[in-house]
Amino acid sequence: MSEHGVTILRLGYRLGRDPRITTHLALVARALGAQRFLFSGDEDKKMQENISSVNQRFGGDMEIEHIKSPMAWLRRFVTQGIDGNPPGVAVHLTMYGASFREVTPTIRRDRPLVVIVGGAKVPSDVFHISQYNLAVGNQPHSEVAALALFLDGWYGSGAIERKLEGGELIINPSLTGKDVNDTRSA
Ligand code: SAM
Repeated sequence: MSEHGVTILRLGYRLGRDPRITTHLALVARALGAQRFLFSGDEDKKMQENISSVNQRFGGDMEIEHIKSPMAWLRRFVTQGIDGNPPGVAVHLTMYGASFREVTPTIRRDRPLVVIVGGAKVPSDVFHISQYNLAVGNQPHSEVAALALFLDGWYGSGAIERKLEGGELIINPSLTGKDVNDTRSA
């Protein structure tokens, strides 16, 4: 696991078309261990509030923020570093990339990591700025599936079983139905 944590950068968010799939991306990022979810394109306070509300109910503290200039942010991330951190490693998920299963084990883990997920149109600069263009298979499919498989590979299988601390609701795994402790009524 990277000591600096993992940021997801979702490019080109479109209000009206993308809220559901981008919310799913953020939920997958949160459940699989990312620390920060950034999105560019349209602003959407409601989507941000949705994720904060999931954190409050089910735990964890993944931050979600809109950014106006994703390419400037990405250049700074890989060249200078962000928020006093060292320069980071950028992985761009694209069906045109190299096999994520072969390459992920070779990526250094002592630097911040950003995982870039494209939107309707991915600027060609993303391919050049990213140190790694990685494919989750060389067929077009879903960004949600690509992110889930990549993060599972990065953190090691079992990442999805992790416990997120601090939630109001605690789910007890059950074969027979819903078993939830509601700490608000304790
Ligand atoms: N039209 C976009 C383009 O010009 O590249 C692609 C749209 S695709 C549904 C959205 C995102 O899903 C891509 O930018 C990529 O991040 C991710 N994606 C889709 N298939 C993928 C694959 N096989 N491997 C890795 N990422 C994939």
